[in-house]
This record gives sequence, structure tokens and C-alpha cells, in this order.
Amino acid sequence: MLQDKHNTNEFLNGNHHDARWETEVEEMGDIHYASSIDTPLKSDAFDLTDDEKMDAIEVHFKEIMDIIGLDLSDDSLRGTPKRVAKMFVKEIFSGLNPKSKPAISLFENKFQYKEMLVEKGIKLHSFCEHHFLPIYGKAHIAYIAADKVIGLSKLNRVVEYFARRPQVQERLTVQIAEELKKILGTEDVAVYLEAKHMCVQMRGIQHDDCVTVTSDYGGAFQKDNVKNEFLQAIKG
Ligand SMILES: [Zn+2]
Repeated sequence: MLQDKHNTNEFLNGNHHDARWETEVEEMGDIHYASSIDTPLKSDAFDLTDDEKMDAIEVHFKEIMDIIGLDLSDDSLRGTPKRVAKMFVKEIFSGLNPKSKPAISLFENKFQYKEMLVEKGIKLHSFCEHHFLPIYGKAHIAYIAADKVIGLSKLNRVVEYFARRPQVQERLTVQIAEELKKILGTEDVAVYLEAKHMCVQMRGIQHDDCVTVTSDYGGAFQKDNVKNEFLQAIKG
């Protein structure tokens, strides 16, 4: 994994402005190595307000539509740049902004519940950062409570927050897992994502039936019997 990353970086730093370079960049979109757990953001990522971002995106998206040859004076198309800008900033990429992070309330584990809690079938809608096409599927999460338990819907909220970014599935998995470990104060967290990628389905290799599965097993979930109990629960 590290070796791959090294090679890719070396490659990017090199001067390969030729057809081979383009082919390899194209292919790199399918190599989902995790560069870091953090989404790569510029230091000035939030200097612009949401309104300023939407205005700028509207202008640039209009330009893209114009370049591909669409007649922006058509009734059906006129409002599209504004709609796309709003959708990017307020909906599908709203999870880039730390302000969107869900407020999490925890409760005392009064019942002394010591077994694993599994929340399965959480809806997952994200966006591939290599092709800007949807990723959609299900997230399954489990944890073994230490002192605190979490409101169940908050698990869904954490998934949604990290999914609402341009993503690769591997990073999304780890981000959800690490956040839950931090919130819950335990390493005993499992995250399992199964998702379809529109960039695999409708372009490139065009495989409709591929499902990409990623997982992260912390603490007790690294033990086979605990992991298997979780896997049994989410398969059922
Ligand atoms: Zn993709």
C-alpha cells in the first residue's frame, strides 16, 4: 500500500505531459489508495461564505454547460447552474464544512448493556472524488458501549456527515470509524460499507453488479468471534 502511494507521488511530481500520463491519470481514478484519513482541503477552504461559493459555482457550471454545447437560454436549462451550485454547497458537499458536523449527545449506559449494538442498513449516499458521480449503498455499524451510549439516529448522522463530501470509500470508512471511536470513548467500533459506484456502472468498465465492500474493525472487533457475530448480524 505504502509502496503504491510512493510510486504514485513520484509519478505525479515527474514531468509526464504526454498521452501515457493522461492514460495513467485516468487509471489512477480506480486506484483507491488512502492518502490520509483527512479529506484533502485547502487551508482557505472556508474563507468564502456559502453564498459566495454558490455564486461562483453557478458562473463556472454555466460555463461548463456552455462549452459542451448546451443552449442556456432554453427554459429547461436556464436554472440548472444555480440548482447545481446550491446542491453542491448546501447538500451533497455540505459535509466538507466542519460546521455541518452533527451535535452528538451521549447517555449514561444505565442498563449496563455490555453486548454489541448493531445498527444496520444505514443509507449511504456519497460522491466519488475521482469522477464526481454518485456512490450509494448501505453502512452497517456496531459498537460495544464503554460508559456511554449514543442516540441511534446519531450513527446515521455521522455517516451522512462524512458521506456528504467528494470521497473514496476507503477514506469514508475510516473517517466514520475514527469519529465514532472518539465520540464513544472506545476502540470497540466496527464499520462495514457496501456500495455501488456509478463511475464503475455507467462509464469505464460498466459493471452493473459490482458492490464495493470496505470495513474497519477496532478493538474487540479484531477478534474473530466478535467480528463474526457482527458479520452474522448484518447478513441476517
Ligand atoms: Zn470514481
